[in-house]
Amino acid sequence: MDSLGKPTVLAVEDDTAIQALLRAVLGADCNLKIAGDGATGLLAASEIEPDLILLDVMLPDMDGREVCRRIKANSRLTAVPVIFLTSLSAAEHEVEGLEAGGIDYLAKPINPAILKMRVNNHLELKRSRDALERLARLDGLTGLANRRTFDDMLLREWRRLARVNNPLAVIMMDVDHFKQFNDTYGHGGGDECLKRVAKAAAGALQRPADVVARYGGEEFVALLPDTTLDGALMVAEAIRAAVAALNIPHTGSKVASHVTLSLGAASTTPKADGKPEDLLEAADMELYATKSGGRNQSRGRIL
Ligand code: GH3
Ligand code: MG
Ligand code: MG
Ligand code: MG
Repeated sequence: MDSLGKPTVLAVEDDTAIQALLRAVLGADCNLKIAGDGATGLLAASEIEPDLILLDVMLPDMDGREVCRRIKANSRLTAVPVIFLTSLSAAEHEVEGLEAGGIDYLAKPINPAILKMRVNNHLELKRSRDALERLARLDGLTGLANRRTFDDMLLREWRRLARVNNPLAVIMMDVDHFKQFNDTYGHGGGDECLKRVAKAAAGALQRPADVVARYGGEEFVALLPDTTLDGALMVAEAIRAAVAALNIPHTGSKVASHVTLSLGAASTTPKADGKPEDLLEAADMELYATKSGGRNQSRGRIL
């Protein structure tokens, strides 16, 4: 999708008459890019990551179905719908194309009305799939990344930092006496508090690669790539200060008159055969220690 909300469609087609037809039918509503052979098409696909690909079966340099297989093998392109354009109307070719990962077929000669409808249908399906995927990755209350997304990011960063031999830190954080907060201000008040805490925690991060996620209930977790324990403790204190500065009244708290956080950090240089869960567990143990050590503070350990 470009900045005007127009979908980007890549057509890989060598026949200039068909190229002209595609431009005439799709040019106004789509951001249409055309590649005249398979190799150019593959390059263009990975460069522009289109919303949909129209793919000729018979290309000058390679078989369209092979192009499709390579597109589907690219993790960044695997969800892009591919519609084959073909004059090979025999059933076995359709089967082969669909087996290669195509989602649909348009038989040549191409009927402009059918082309437009099929393209719009598949773009619409892709839009709703993308929206669902986004929803599934975010926490509904706070809009932060949810636990599933966090776990994916943690694993990715763990592997990446193991390759480059750089440290990775996490911070587990938990709102103090939050059960009492709900009891005092009601569940709606509690929800509102969690939203503000989430925003303050996210706002306290400094580097673009840092992420804070909702780990569950009133627990949040920060992922800090390329960060040592000293750095993580600075971030933990910045988050704690940002939440304190919200000055959300909490009359039932035993540690302050406002809402506070307890935080536990852990840092390690990941090993390829190590487990990211161990890092989380270390941070969780530090969090537990801050709870029993008086709350409204942070501490950490190196793993
Ligand atoms: P501690 O200082 O030891 O962390 O005490 P606590 O009361 O915060 O911890 P506890 O685990 O006893 O209670 C957590 C509370 O968080 C209980 C639960 O109802 C509340 N909670 C969890 N998720 C939500 C939510 O989404 N909204 C609201 N309003 N409350 C939530
Ligand atoms: Mg051709
Ligand atoms: Mg808790
Ligand atoms: Mg709590």
